[in-house]
Amino acid sequence: MRYEGPIYRPPSEADSLLVQATIGCPHNKCAFCLVYKKGPRFAVRPVEDIEADLAEAAGDLGHRVRSLFLPAGNSLAMPTADLARVCRQARELFPALGRITSYASVPALAAHGSGGLAELARAGLTRLHVGLESGHDPTLARMKKGCDSAAQVRACATALAAGLELNLYVMLGLAGPDQSLEHAAATARVLNRIGQAGAYTLRLRTLVPKINTLLLHWIKRGRFALCAPGQVLAEARALIEALAGPCQIFSDHYTNYLDLRGSLPTDRPRLLSLLDQALSLPRGAFRPDFVGNQ
Ligand code: SF4
Repeated sequence: MRYEGPIYRPPSEADSLLVQATIGCPHNKCAFCLVYKKGPRFAVRPVEDIEADLAEAAGDLGHRVRSLFLPAGNSLAMPTADLARVCRQARELFPALGRITSYASVPALAAHGSGGLAELARAGLTRLHVGLESGHDPTLARMKKGCDSAAQVRACATALAAGLELNLYVMLGLAGPDQSLEHAAATARVLNRIGQAGAYTLRLRTLVPKINTLLLHWIKRGRFALCAPGQVLAEARALIEALAGPCQIFSDHYTNYLDLRGSLPTDRPRLLSLLDQALSLPRGAFRPDFVGNQ
């Protein structure tokens, strides 16, 4: 099995077989992201190499593989036919395979179009992890996310209609204190429009400024302020209050101040109550700020 460059996977893919399909990230501009800032440059691995790794893993693990994740940062940037070929081969090699998953950007989803996404779903691709981060256009532009909220809605609704599962990631604190509640309201509007196409899973993260990022540079120059824990929790409260669902919500990441998990709309009262309790706690009850030390 061969890997090149940083290999990240969501916590929910901890038990998945990792077979690398692409290297790096084709965008690599997000102001808060350190992952591929030092390279390698984006590349799609030759399909024959991916298939050789799948075959090697099948020889070792065979019937034990129940989920497959295809790193690196955006393997949906592969051509539709090549990715479909990889998915079909994986389905043949691993008889107990339940799901095939990948990170996907909004522009990559749009590039496949509804026909391409349906072809990928038929080939056995199951779940996509999409970092929306925000639905607030000024924040998306400032963070150089490479898409706007209208593109997010179009791409994600198309993916759901094609039969793909979506795990959507939102980053609390990303707009800073001044626009925190605008970020929450606009993000809820985007998620509610996506939700009209089908149920999705929402995974919350909280902004932690990382080394080698433009965002950390802004913080050091006084051009961006971090939200305090109470502001982040108030932002989460506003988001959850405004979400229509249906969705599952998880905050399965060390960056978060509070473990929130449940289904919306059913669990809204319980989640809001948890947030209200947390909002009454002093600053010392929460993790310290991690600024540029990771
Ligand atoms: S957040 Fe995702 S899309 Fe943005 S640079 Fe990092 S890996 Fe690429």
